[in-house]
Parts: sequence; structure tokens; C-alpha cells
Amino acid sequence: MTTTARTATGTAPRSAELFQRAEARTAHNYKPLPVVVEHAEGAWMTDVDGTRYLDLLAGYSALNFGHGHPGLLRVAHEQLDKLTLTSRAFVHDRFADFCAALGDLCGKELVLPMNTGAEAVETAIKVMRKWGYEVKGVTPGQANIIVASGNFHGRTTTIVGFSDDPDARDGFGPFAPGFTMVPYGDLAAVEAAIDENTVGVLMEPIQGEGGVVLPPDGFWKGLRELTARENVLMAADEIQAGLGRTGRTFASDHEDVVPDLYVLGKALGAGIVPVSAVVADRDVLGVLRPGQHGSTFGGNALACAVGHEVVTMLATGEYQARATELGALLRERLEALVGHGVHAVRVRGLWAGVDIDPAVGTGREVCEALMARGVLAKDTHGSTIRLAPPLVIDADDLAWGLDQLAEVVKG
Ligand SMILES: *Cc1c(COP(=O)(O)O)cnc(C)c1O
Repeated sequence: MTTTARTATGTAPRSAELFQRAEARTAHNYKPLPVVVEHAEGAWMTDVDGTRYLDLLAGYSALNFGHGHPGLLRVAHEQLDKLTLTSRAFVHDRFADFCAALGDLCGKELVLPMNTGAEAVETAIKVMRKWGYEVKGVTPGQANIIVASGNFHGRTTTIVGFSDDPDARDGFGPFAPGFTMVPYGDLAAVEAAIDENTVGVLMEPIQGEGGVVLPPDGFWKGLRELTARENVLMAADEIQAGLGRTGRTFASDHEDVVPDLYVLGKALGAGIVPVSAVVADRDVLGVLRPGQHGSTFGGNALACAVGHEVVTMLATGEYQARATELGALLRERLEALVGHGVHAVRVRGLWAGVDIDPAVGTGREVCEALMARGVLAKDTHGSTIRLAPPLVIDADDLAWGLDQLAEVVKG
């Protein structure tokens, strides 16, 4: 493994001081790399000591449009000066257009805006259960939802209760009942798990946190057909996979699947404000009536202004095309590393999971070595590195970042 003088001698003075002060006064629920960023533009971040880093994580895909996108910043600045929040007790002037644009992007009738991804997932769970009782006629209190092994849907107690990751789950019970786990990508297992009280299937079209794990070809389409046939709702958690990342607007588009519920977040707020949403037709979202669900900040004016601009940008198709184009480069360069410090790679659009050969080091050690070379990436599950560059990254910068990875894994 290659290291440089920078890691050998520790981080530069201001970074080191601010990093230590942050560690001293925060709960250690993260283990950040010792970089302290001060400003950023496009795919580049600059730390407090003036060192530049290429961002190959993009805020876990919250920054699909890069840092400081001029069009998004203009919309946000203009909205800040006019109106930020009314609460949903009153309607503001940005609400109708945002909901219509997002609904149109999804081909759905209704939008329920929330803030974080986990809140959107919780919203989808509530809506599917209520639909089950009121529309499908499921036995009161007995609704179940089918989920996948290796899932990541957020951090609330209900959601971690149906995770199989011990770090996410252990020590946080008791958990809410009503979830059945089946192996990810196993259609026969989903079919076997469906009973008369099954109201929905909640899954990621590609498991991001799991290490960019793709189900077998045809699984997503098969799941669509199965759920339709069985009168079970299909909720696609597109929070990380959606909104241009994979080269299509939604990862579901790769198999021409339209789920009953789109669960969206991350890039919907462009890294400026948290914006999430559940998008579905009236026969599904229509089960909610006044007072039955809500959020103080959900659908606020600033969020709607930014979210609407994101939807407008995606409607051009430009970012999806860029993800496809740059994704080809990403795939070519990563596949060349297999057998040279890399065990396996999985690529879809501008998104990759890279399994590092344990002989090279842990995923964390590779990320530390990358940092020393001016590249920021994040490991997941020990030996995998997830690459999700901003979709606006320059091809040359991406190639340079991948050169650094090649140098690090080849040792
Ligand atoms: C990040 C993520 C979430 C949770 O989003 P938060 O905004 O962190 O609550 C849920 N599902 C998937 C697939 C995610 O990647």
C-alpha cells in the first residue's frame, strides 16, 4: 500500500486542530477521515489548509449536481430572501409547481414531501399499512411488509429493526413487528413470503449502502409483475439510486419498472437542504387524510424551490446522459483493476462498488491512502469502496482520481 509524507507526518496544522476539537465534542457515531473542508466547487473540495481533494463520494449521492452549482445556488439565494417556511398549515407559492413537476417526473398523481430519507421511508410504511387496512382489507393490526437482506433504509428504530446489519441494529430494540426479510434478489423467496396480510414490498433497486449490490437481471421486473398479480404494493427506495445516478432518472427505469411508490431523498435537495418525498397515485397516497401524517418542515418553501430546480434539471436528461457516458469510463478503468488489488467491481452508471483484495488492506486503509493523494472516498462493510462522483465531474478529473486508486491498490 502506498502512503505519502502527508499521512506519515499527520495532517496539516489547522485541519488537525479542528479535527481533534470536533472529535472531542461530538458523539462518535461516525469515523470521518481526518480532513476538514472549508469550501467546494463542482467535484473539488478544499480544506482549511488549502489542500484540494477530488470528491468521489458526493455526499452519498446527495451532491449529484456537485458542490455550489450556480443555478441551484441562485434559486436558493432568491428563495431565502423571500420566504423559507410557512408550515403546511398555510400554502406557499412554491408548493404547487414543485409537486406537479416531481409528480410528472415520476409519472404519478400525488407527492408527499418530507425532509430526510428515513422520514420518506417511514411515510411509505405508514401509507402501505393504511392502504392494506382500508383498501385491501387486511386483518386489523396484522399488516406485513417484505424487505430484503442487506437493506439500508435509514436509522429510525422501526427501520433499523428490519436491518440485518448488527451495527445498525444491535442495542436499539425492542423493534416494531410487521416486517419479513427475504434474500435480496430472490423472487421465489418474495413469492413464498407473501400472505393474505402482506401490504407491500419495500426494496432498493440497487443496494447502495450494501456496496452497490445489483440484483440478478430481471428481478426488479419480476417483482413488479409479482406484486401486481398478488395485490401487494411495490415501494422502490430510490433515495440513493435514483435521480440520475445510474444513467436513468430512476434505477427502476433500467427494467422499465414503475413502482407503486417512489421513495426519494438525497439528491432531491441537491446537498443544500434536506428534501425527501413519497410519490404515488391517488389510490395509494389518497388514504391519508388531514391530521394523519405530517412534518413541520416537510415541503417548506426553500425545499420546494431547490427541489423544483433539481426536477427541472433532471427533466432535460442531460445529467442522466452524463452518468452513462462517464460511467463507461468508470467501468473500463475499474474492470482493468480486477486481479490487481481488486477482487470484483459492480458498476451501474456513475456508481461503483469496488471490493478490495484484503492483501492490499482494508477499505478504510485504501481510503486513507487515497486521501493522502488528494482523493476522498468512503469504505462500506470493511473491504468495499463505494464510488459516487458528482455527475458534473470532468472526465479528466475522474480519470485522474481512478489513476490514484490504481496506484494505491497496486501497491
Ligand atoms: C441514505 C438512505 C436512506 C436514509 O436517508 P437519510 O436522509 O439519511 O435519512 C434511506 N434509503 C437509502 C437507500 C439510502 O441510501
